[in-house]
Amino acid sequence: MEPMANRRWRAAVATVMLAFAGCGGGGGDSAEPVDDVVRLQPGDRPVRFRLDGAVSEETQRFTVETLQWAHADLGDSGPLTLHIYSDAERFITAYTAEFAISIEDARLELAGGQTAFAAPGGHIWIYLGNYEQVPEEVRREALFHEYNHTLQEWQAEVRFQSQDRAERSFVPRWMVEGCAEYLAVKAGARRGFVDEKLERMYVVDEATQSSEVLQDLETAGQAGFIGGTGAAYTVGWLGCERLTTVRGEDAVAHAFWLSMAKQRDWQKAFAEAFGVTPAAFYKDFETWRATL
Ligand SMILES: [Zn+2]
Repeated sequence: MEPMANRRWRAAVATVMLAFAGCGGGGGDSAEPVDDVVRLQPGDRPVRFRLDGAVSEETQRFTVETLQWAHADLGDSGPLTLHIYSDAERFITAYTAEFAISIEDARLELAGGQTAFAAPGGHIWIYLGNYEQVPEEVRREALFHEYNHTLQEWQAEVRFQSQDRAERSFVPRWMVEGCAEYLAVKAGARRGFVDEKLERMYVVDEATQSSEVLQDLETAGQAGFIGGTGAAYTVGWLGCERLTTVRGEDAVAHAFWLSMAKQRDWQKAFAEAFGVTPAAFYKDFETWRATL
């Protein structure tokens, strides 16, 4: 991929909705039952499908194959349900039935290029109108990113959110989005569908232009729906890279989230997983970032 193309696609891919963690059930059945097809992932996990009639065999095959890779490479994230819609109106009907979002806002998200997002309880939603317009490798990377969110939730056992720091369910947005993206890029590079060097160049370029410090991105830095990648994804990506340098990829992918299940407090989980307090890490990170 060319850098500029990459940048353009990135805007479409980065629109992700864990922001809904606090306000949607996500676990119930859609009011729009369509065609349930049960498939098996490695580990005999049933993957449940909610599809509309126009979802092609090839799209299903491609999506299942990619999620099988994600499962094998990133770890088990529990039961998964895929909601795949080819038609915008059906997508909006099913989506607004499950989440506290208006029809108007849902339309705006699709118009802004939303391809896929994850919701609590192992739900991955895909809108084919946008998903099928991006290159194959971008679709794979988007699925790896969303799969990472299902893994975060499964391991943390908490329906965490990134809006209210005072709640015990709080996890910084830069960790949720930055680590999902960073780990998707690392795993995608190992599978050969991501150019890691190019991705990092893009991220460093974006991060050096951003004036927001990492700590601000605990709640800020969400991706905009009409283009643009939120700093939680780019500066957060570097935050997770830095944590990996210090404590290894496993701490970022697993140990922190597992500790969250135990501690029910992100600052304690952070200290346990990375051996440093968030405050000390933020200081170290900004010093390091200034050298980029
Ligand atoms: Zn995300």
